[in-house]
Order: sequence, then structure tokens, then C-alpha cells
Amino acid sequence: MQFREIPGHDELKLKLCKNVAEGRVSHAQLFSGREGSGALPLALAFMQYISCTARTADDSCGTCPSCLKMSKLIHPDLYMALPVNQEGSTDSLHTTPFLVKWREAYLKNPWLGLEDWVDVLDIGNKQPFISAFEAHEIIKALSLSPVESEYRFVLIWLPEKMRAEAANRLLKTIEEPPDKTLIILVTKSYDSLLKTILSRTQLVKVNRLTIPEATSVLQKITQLDTGRCNLAAEIAQGNVVQARWLLQHGDEAEAQLDLFRTWMQSCYGFMVPELIRLTDLFAKETREWQKGFFSYALYIIRQTLLMNSEASLAHVTPSEKAFLDKFRKFFHPGNYSIITEYIDEAVFHAERNAHSKILFFDLSLLIADVFRKEKEKAAQINA
Ligand SMILES: [Zn+2]
Repeated sequence: MQFREIPGHDELKLKLCKNVAEGRVSHAQLFSGREGSGALPLALAFMQYISCTARTADDSCGTCPSCLKMSKLIHPDLYMALPVNQEGSTDSLHTTPFLVKWREAYLKNPWLGLEDWVDVLDIGNKQPFISAFEAHEIIKALSLSPVESEYRFVLIWLPEKMRAEAANRLLKTIEEPPDKTLIILVTKSYDSLLKTILSRTQLVKVNRLTIPEATSVLQKITQLDTGRCNLAAEIAQGNVVQARWLLQHGDEAEAQLDLFRTWMQSCYGFMVPELIRLTDLFAKETREWQKGFFSYALYIIRQTLLMNSEASLAHVTPSEKAFLDKFRKFFHPGNYSIITEYIDEAVFHAERNAHSKILFFDLSLLIADVFRKEKEKAAQINA
């Protein structure tokens, strides 16, 4: 993939190219960006740029033999380590047997997220991980001289999924890799990486996409119209993985609005038995659905504020509007930041596999408490 095929990140792309021109390519780099920001395609475009035999000041050529192999992920000097898992024995688990599936999934959608990959692996509730055996394979790959390129490349996707034993095995290699080697780790969860990894890699920060940039990526990977892509990008705040999920599950928006409506009414009325019932409903859904629901909740609350300030600004469907008209008195600038902060925090924990029931019930009580305090305050004023 060439840089030009990736919307946004203009400054970062130029900086990466400049580093190559000036011979300042750090041997171990950590591309860090939240899910759906494009850190993975950027890392692969960077490797393609370095190995391209006809690169220009700001991009690879896209047509030399190296570019063609890199863009199909079949370059002999590229080793990829991914979180994987399978039914049955996990002894000597490593990426190579999964490469065909990976290439197919990535080439179809370079903005794929971990959950998309889990779907491809078809491993149910099992979590994929990077094993100690994989660390051994990485070290073996790096011990070989490059065949076609000047460099030997290793891509480690989601190092946060590395078992401690694997990480420990790799530390020395990451600190002092063999000559002409480039190791790129691509993380969506910087905070959960071991300090020993952070201190041995150069950080390349990948910012989130703007709404127009995310819209453009979505059009490319879903072929849907601009309006729908733009709305999904907005709900997901530029997270392409999340937005794509929303587009594919558009029919569930109505169900999510229903749940949100009942949830907020129950929080407002401090109806604990109802909150317990909703918690059970929530916990039955997949992790991706739960994250989608929180994104949707944040979006709806944001739209309420917009309707309160200037009705024409809000982008909502007729059923959402009917709900917001009734509910707009509950959300205001005074409680907006605290409620959205609680939900943001829940998203953070959902991404780290927190227990769904505890997560949702705790969040409900926190929000219910915000409403309760407001009602008490109002009662004092009226008394
Ligand atoms: Zn090229």
C-alpha cells in the first residue's frame, strides 16, 4: 500500500519519508494509535516505502517488484507476527499457518480491527495472543539476511497481546536487532504495554482521523454513499473500525436506541431492578456490539446538546428526534462532561475485556447518581 492510499496523516507521512532520506530510521519503532486510526496500513506503507527501488520524496512507486510484493504482503523479507489462536492444542502457536487468512482479511480491509480478525479466526470466545514460540520465530526470521531488500522487516501487530514470556524473549532483539533490520510494533493500547518495550522503541504517534478522513476511508472499504459513511464516522468519532461495524449493523441502531431510552429512564428514576435486567441484556451481546452501543450513547448525548443549543445542527433520525425532544432536559452542559467521561471510561475498560456485567451496572449507578444529585439540588432550590 502506498501512503497516498491512506487518507489523512499528512504530516506524519512526510516525517517518516524525511527520516528515510536523512538516514535516520530507528531500528525499532512503535506505531501507536487508537483503533481505527490507520496505524497498521501506515506501518506497512512505511515498510513498502523503505524497500521501494524507485521511491520519491513522499511515496513509494507502487509498481516496482518490491512494491508489488509488499502490497500483497508476500515480500520475502517481511515477517509478520499477529495475535492468533485456534481450537485444540496451542503448542507452537505462531502466525505462519494463519498467513493466508490474514492476507485475505487485510487486503480486503487494511483498517481491520482485532474483533474483525477474531471473526476471521473463528475461535469463539477464545482470545488471540502472541506466544513465546512466536518470539522464537521472530528471532529466527531476523537471523536470516535479507533476500531482496536492503532491510529485513518484522511487523508485530498488537504487541499488547504478547504473553509476558514472549515479550521477555524479544527484549534483547528489540534493543539490539541485527544490522539492517526494522521492527515495527503497531499498538492500539499504548498504556497496557510493558515499560521495558516502551523504553526500547521509538514512538510514532498516529492521531485519530478527522470525520472527513474517516468518511473517505469508509467509502473506500464499504462502497456505501457519503451520507451514511459520514454519519457512521461521526457516531464513532473517526474510529473507522467502529464506524464500519455500525454501517454493517445499521438495522441494530433502532434496537440500540430502544435500549438507550430505557437505560436512561431507569438511571433517571434510579430503578435498580430494571438496571439489573438491562445489565443482563447488555452482557449477552458481543464486545463489538457493546462498544458500538457506548459510541451510540455518546453520539446521542452529544446530539441532545446540539439540539439544545441549535436544533438545526443535530443529525438525527426521526425516531431519535422524538426521543431527544423528550430527553433534552436531562442532558445539559452541566452534566455532559461527567456523563460522557464515565461512558468514555467504560469504553476504555470494554476494550480491555472488563467483565461486562460489572462494567455496565457500575456505569449505570454512576449515571443514576449524577441525576439523583441534580434532582436533590433542584428540590432544595424549590423548597
Ligand atoms: Zn516501488
